[in-house]
Amino acid sequence: MPLSKITAPVLVLILSLVLPACSSEPDPATGEPAATAAQPPAPVSMPLDDTAAAVAAVDTLRLLAADAEPGSWMSYGRTYSEQRYSPLNKVDAKTVSDLGLAWSFDFNTTRGIEATSIVVDGVMYTTSSWSIVHALDARTGKHLWTYDPQVNKAKVKHGCCDAVNRGVAAWEGQVFVGVFDGRLVALDAATGKVNWEVATVDPALPYTITGAPRVIDGKVLIGNGGAEFGVRGFISAYAADSGKMVWRFYTVPGDPKLGFENKAMEMAAQTWNGKWYDLGGGGGTVWDAMAYDPELDLLYFGVGNGTPWNREIRSPGGGDNLFLSSIVAVRPATGEYVWHYQTTPGESWDYTATQHIILADIELDGKTRKVLMQAPKNGFFYVLDRTDGTLLSANNYIDITWATHVDMETGRPVEAEGARYIDSPLAVTPSYLGGHNWHPMSFSPQTGLVYIPVLDFAANYGQPEEFVYRPGVANTGTSGIIGSLPDAQAERDAIRPLMKGRLLAWDPRTQSEAWRVEHNGPWNGGTLVTAGNLVFQGTADGKFVAFSADKGETLWEFPTQTGVVAPAVTYEIDGEQYVSVNVGWGGAYALVFGEYVQSDSMPNVSRVLTFKLGADGKLPEVNWRPTVVFNPPPRVAQEAVEHEGFGLYQDICMGCHGLNAVSGLIIPDLRGSAWLHDADGWNSVVREGLLSKNGMASFGGHITREESEAIRAYVIQQAWRGKELQEGVAIGD
Ligand code: CA
Repeated sequence: MPLSKITAPVLVLILSLVLPACSSEPDPATGEPAATAAQPPAPVSMPLDDTAAAVAAVDTLRLLAADAEPGSWMSYGRTYSEQRYSPLNKVDAKTVSDLGLAWSFDFNTTRGIEATSIVVDGVMYTTSSWSIVHALDARTGKHLWTYDPQVNKAKVKHGCCDAVNRGVAAWEGQVFVGVFDGRLVALDAATGKVNWEVATVDPALPYTITGAPRVIDGKVLIGNGGAEFGVRGFISAYAADSGKMVWRFYTVPGDPKLGFENKAMEMAAQTWNGKWYDLGGGGGTVWDAMAYDPELDLLYFGVGNGTPWNREIRSPGGGDNLFLSSIVAVRPATGEYVWHYQTTPGESWDYTATQHIILADIELDGKTRKVLMQAPKNGFFYVLDRTDGTLLSANNYIDITWATHVDMETGRPVEAEGARYIDSPLAVTPSYLGGHNWHPMSFSPQTGLVYIPVLDFAANYGQPEEFVYRPGVANTGTSGIIGSLPDAQAERDAIRPLMKGRLLAWDPRTQSEAWRVEHNGPWNGGTLVTAGNLVFQGTADGKFVAFSADKGETLWEFPTQTGVVAPAVTYEIDGEQYVSVNVGWGGAYALVFGEYVQSDSMPNVSRVLTFKLGADGKLPEVNWRPTVVFNPPPRVAQEAVEHEGFGLYQDICMGCHGLNAVSGLIIPDLRGSAWLHDADGWNSVVREGLLSKNGMASFGGHITREESEAIRAYVIQQAWRGKELQEGVAIGD
């Protein structure tokens, strides 16, 4: 089986077609499930019963003393160090067998669920897809209010990786959410009413927000995504009380002819070539990780990939391209640059350094060191001195092929020959989804271990036949056809066991593996570790599991009825410890790798599930499964047209509808679409925005009618392939 035919490097573009009469079970009008189990309460706003009580009364002193009230989970990573370690221990390795479902709350969406819930002053604040915020009574799950920012669903075409949101921040009676369309919104924590909202990006550009804000000393910090499409990355700080912007730090330089915002940009510009600023802006979005050291007064954040991925196109002649794929430290009051460490100089593989950053004080060579730890996409685990960014150690946490090791003298990776796929295409591990993606890891001061949700598979990278920068759609600068799946089903099946995912316990002191649990495939949930010697993780195949933190033994599990990608949290109310996780399958892997999504990941039944000792709640049965019914029209197009459609599909449609037109069924599988029979109808959907209210934006500004027809011809070809497979007819190579 040629590895060279494995997965596609093309992430992206987003045709979130929701087609009528398409074969899966969701309601054709809305794309939502026709009949899920219990429905959530109607989204209404209402005040809390006890309006006199403080709500979300989070401030600097309280956040700094978070360990003094382990019953709360007041910020994204629980504390500014983002360790996701809870000192609570009533649920422990002995009692966990008595853990049961206390309550659940249905989100009623089929799109991805990635949020970490915030729990403070008895209230849980969490988010579902489309940046919708819910406030719930943390003890009972009683619905308090819902805020829907009414995102224009056509905006999803500017998202690489589903309509997801990773959660809110709380501060002095307000709750802040970064909205998918680039707004930052401040809500009254008691009522869900909007106090202020501000556009943090130019709404005309393909920026999105999926990450959770953080708040430091009254400043709300928020970044954005969009580097697959063409944007210039930055992170901004807004005053929590007014929404006024306090500072903005760009991560890549603009056009040098226009001058530089600061000395850091002047320095960064020395590491770029060509006209990256005319190719969308260079990328470098700050779409997830942040951490804060109050003693050093440093804010750390991770920076993403370049636009396009391929440095040959982005910066001809080379260069490190600062601050792509870097960890950057700035002053939180001013945004002033302090230090950086670049994990992947001159990145060319979508190797972001936006992955979770954890701060800890650990013993190295007999000395306690203030460290920063990250396992970015590129497959190396880094331990840095967080006072000045010095590299203390680095080792690969999965088997990688793009580099041999990190040179400790220079602090730079030593790349493998040919890894930049300049002269010939190449299968590279990790893939563009990384050895670790956004799913948070956790660190236990008790065991000294870091618990990493690992991805382990390759992607194929190659030069495009020709690169034309297309504003507003995917611009990876790699060949979608080279990144596609093999035609022969036997070859596709041979790839399946190579698509791996595991829970890895990593010892940062020795840079070595402590233990691992191999899962049934990639894209499992973020992790939580507790003082009860427990690691909690949800899985792609629909389980919520407690492992022993020291050994990785499976101690308890609960069937979630759907794949889990979000991380769990734990909190305590009136002496009772709760463990809560948002379930619901989605995100990049779920969309792109339809061929390799596990059947147990679906259907997407998105909920908050909250557990406590002695509870025995049951979930209602799920009575629908998404399927594809193939009923394609005859193949009448020329093979050359089908092939042109293949290339266009891989570049423009694949990021949402799946590699080789095999959908992960989070959104409809085009091979089952009734629109395949109707050229005019197909054109109305693809180019005229007939279904834009459902998320299928118009691509009329990007492709011609002839190109849209070529895509239809390709999907018809693939529908016949699917039909023949389903009916057991042999498929020729
Ligand atoms: Ca990316």
